Amino acid sequence: MRAIYITHTGGPDVLTHTDINAPTPKDNEVVVQVDIAGVNFIDVYFREGIYHSPTPFVPGFEGTGRVIYDPQGEIAEGTVVAWCDAFGSYAEQVCVPRDRMVAVPESLEPHVAASMLLQGITAHYLTHGVYDLSEGDSCLITAGAGGVGLLATQMAASAGATVYSVVSSEEKVALAYEAGATEVFFYSDNLAEDVRRRNGGVGVDVVYDGVGKATFNESLEAVRPRGTVCLFGAASGPVDPIDPQVLNTHGSIFLTRPSIGAWTAREGEFAMRAQAVTRAVTSSELNVRVGAVYPLADAAAAHRDLEARVTTGSVVLQVS
Ligand code: NDP
Repeated sequence: MRAIYITHTGGPDVLTHTDINAPTPKDNEVVVQVDIAGVNFIDVYFREGIYHSPTPFVPGFEGTGRVIYDPQGEIAEGTVVAWCDAFGSYAEQVCVPRDRMVAVPESLEPHVAASMLLQGITAHYLTHGVYDLSEGDSCLITAGAGGVGLLATQMAASAGATVYSVVSSEEKVALAYEAGATEVFFYSDNLAEDVRRRNGGVGVDVVYDGVGKATFNESLEAVRPRGTVCLFGAASGPVDPIDPQVLNTHGSIFLTRPSIGAWTAREGEFAMRAQAVTRAVTSSELNVRVGAVYPLADAAAAHRDLEARVTTGSVVLQVS
């Protein structure tokens, strides 16, 4: 089968389009013919070796396609599914854990189905888990026009929260407002001060920071006393180690570094979040913006663009 193969970690050029053997499923997995694979920032961390996988490997975690073989004979051949958490998704075939996929309603556009779960479930656990937003709450979201950012903005706004969004271009400003942001800012060293000025000086209840190194200090400054800083990614690089005393000096704040794995680990939790996302997307309450589609062979270009901050919303690879 055709796949993107990584024999050593590094820059986008290590993403090689080649022929490899199709994978063999374990008992709890089904084999899927991949139509479209989602591209996520976590794929960049694995490609670079910041998150470790033994080489060689096929990157990618999510997508949509048709079931071609279920060793347990439960899922009919041809069933259209979407999944996340199936390592090796940048390929014509992937083995998907049976408890990490959902059936795709016919009305769902395939590019949307391919990229709704990883970012959608993340946005869901951030806004309905790490800090349960409700009417009158306020939050700050960095990379507000990215894949997770646009979905988290919509979920936060529909929970009734005031949403401050941070982005890097005029196009992204417009997208963040369209998603329901109350106020949109450009990154700056005065970000926290600007946000505080808009919300009465108190600071926000929660900061959702997926940018990391470049924004972390402003995130600490922007949160209210006893509020939550949720550092959920490192698009600009990992944050330096901190002295816990910093949490005291900022007013007894909470700092968490969550993962989608931990926030879908409880019995039924993956299904609950995946179904909430699928329902919201199907009913058009949640809009998944597919910002760019690349052929599988151009995975390197997709990574380059994601890292150069030129993409908006989600990014997908057309596999077959
Ligand atoms: P995005 O579509 O949000 O792309 C990353 C965005 O980060 C860019 O578009 C850019 O937006 C912003 N950014 C800021 N600084 C940089 C930089 N130096 N280099 C590159 N990008 C930068 O990606 P995803 O939606 O896939 O992921 C967003 C974040 O969420 C990532 O950090 C990812 O690791 C994290 N994540 C965490 C999960 C978890 O469970 N912990 C699960 C899924 C994602 P702008 O130009 O506006 O700054």
